[in-house]
Amino acid sequence: MSKRFAPGFRTTEELAALQLKGLKWTVNHAYNGSAFYRRRLDEAGVRPDDIRSLNDLRRLPFVTADDLRDEYPWPLISVPFEDIVRIHASSGTTGKRKVMVYTAKDIDDWADMFARCYETAGLTREDRVQICVGYGVWTAGVGFQNGCERFGAMALPVGPGNIEIHLQFLVDFEPTVLCSTASMALLLAEEAERHGILDKLRIKKVIMGAERSSDIMRAKIRELFRAEHIFDIPGLTEVYGPGTGLDCEHHCGIHYWADYYILEILDPETLEPVREGEVGEMVYTTLKKEGSPLIRYRSRDLTRLIPGKCPCGSVLPRHDRISGRSDDMFIIRGVNIYPSHIDEILSQQQGIGSEYQIHLDRGEDGKDYMTIKVERARGSGPEQDMELSRRIGVDIRKSLLVRGIVEIVDHGSLPRTGSKSKRLFDNRD
Ligand code: ZN
Repeated sequence: MSKRFAPGFRTTEELAALQLKGLKWTVNHAYNGSAFYRRRLDEAGVRPDDIRSLNDLRRLPFVTADDLRDEYPWPLISVPFEDIVRIHASSGTTGKRKVMVYTAKDIDDWADMFARCYETAGLTREDRVQICVGYGVWTAGVGFQNGCERFGAMALPVGPGNIEIHLQFLVDFEPTVLCSTASMALLLAEEAERHGILDKLRIKKVIMGAERSSDIMRAKIRELFRAEHIFDIPGLTEVYGPGTGLDCEHHCGIHYWADYYILEILDPETLEPVREGEVGEMVYTTLKKEGSPLIRYRSRDLTRLIPGKCPCGSVLPRHDRISGRSDDMFIIRGVNIYPSHIDEILSQQQGIGSEYQIHLDRGEDGKDYMTIKVERARGSGPEQDMELSRRIGVDIRKSLLVRGIVEIVDHGSLPRTGSKSKRLFDNRD
């Protein structure tokens, strides 16, 4: 099957030329279409004509989530209202939502980007795709749906729904692909097992987004569904929505759609580029977006670029899975820790379940204490708890240089929400 949604460039030089063209277009478009961008660029003393090479990107000012909230309800809008065909907003619960506007071409580009995700996952038009993410003002459901239809597979738009409906659809309509958060995929797999219907399912691929997932969770999901592949789909409302890239079947990094946006990985403190392969904040500049273009948008998401070439031969660059958010970092006893560090350590352990929580407390002695609650593996009793807790404690101290109290709890006793699980509880102050 020919790749209908493959990028239109073959070499890194061709990509660079394409990015420069897109960057010039975007700066010009934003400067002339948006009062916000014009003000920002004027303040920074940059005119659209000043953009002559990709290095000139670094002369451009940043846009932050605060800017989007300050400019509510129409931040970054760069086209007349008559050209806007849809809006989306982030699903944030506090304060003003981040609103993005879309022209017909933006919707079209997003569908192509997303169709490329399904193509990268090796789907065919015979596939049936059960979409278990939310539909509404946020970008999730409709993104998966439009991409599926653009690609030409069959969409089963269930949404988060209730478990009974999901299980019934899984049996009756025999979907081959499941799109959901990791928590939801695990919940469905465990429920299908409990109902004794795993043998009736035909799920071959699981595409997971919106939430970081531990290796242990992924292994469990793959094992229960007997799925061939689990893919990670990144994305954010600010850059159209989900579908900004996908790992290929080699699973060694996420190929990202560098013909639609430039991804910079910057040190969140200095805002200078990190060294190749080091973790930093993902900063986006879109190349084609009309409604709400992005110029150096600070996403707060952390990842690293993966140097070298993927075994699949694709010329598309790769970034790693998102390892957390720069604002999720917590400091305990002077050590900076990202929840993903704990996640990595737990992923190496045998004999534990897929859920965990990190609790931070201030003791009566005024010192900070970190307690990590970890579930026992399914079917195992408390006999091993002491040894398990000791072993994990040692690993944490060795890798993070800070002590943690490890508490082993019953399998299934930590909440499974079906959406994003809250894992960090900072009870200090
Ligand atoms: Zn690849």
